[in-house]
Amino acid sequence: MNRSSNKASAPSRQQVSASRLNEAVERARTIFAERSLRFTELREQVFAEIAATNGSIGAYDILDRLSDKGTRLAPISVYRSIDALLDAGVIHRLESKNAYFACRRHEHDKHGRPIFLSCERCGSVTEAEAQGVFDLINEVARGQSFDPKVKFVEVSGMCARCAVKPPRSGGK
Ligand SMILES: [Zn+2]
Ligand SMILES: [Zn+2]
Repeated sequence: MNRSSNKASAPSRQQVSASRLNEAVERARTIFAERSLRFTELREQVFAEIAATNGSIGAYDILDRLSDKGTRLAPISVYRSIDALLDAGVIHRLESKNAYFACRRHEHDKHGRPIFLSCERCGSVTEAEAQGVFDLINEVARGQSFDPKVKFVEVSGMCARCAVKPPRSGGK
């Protein structure tokens, strides 16, 4: 499997610090323990690759990175770990990019569901609690006698850091 040329360049710039990564791994470990789920070595490795970037990362990029570190896996193993991490809520899926990112929040339940804010320029992803957005979508859909099943809302645009940089030529 070769490294896809279009995405490989971006993530290295957005690596999180080692201490933030450790913190994220420990938080995930705690959440797994609280739910009596097993945070296996593989799940931890996959989570650490996802949490290592401020942006999002696809399953095959995770495979590549683990392979670079000497862990060769079948794609199905990575997908199973990803499923377990999604179920536990420690990562989310960015539908538009078919990629995953580590949950940036501690407790979604108390603050309502988040919308995902995805920067078109640097690829960073953040979350903002916005239960009202979901309430409104549900209300409008039900007004049309439509039963909505909205899990997540993604908003693409430009993050605060990118907004202060001078625009690149040709960029949107
Ligand atoms: Zn989250
Ligand atoms: Zn940005």
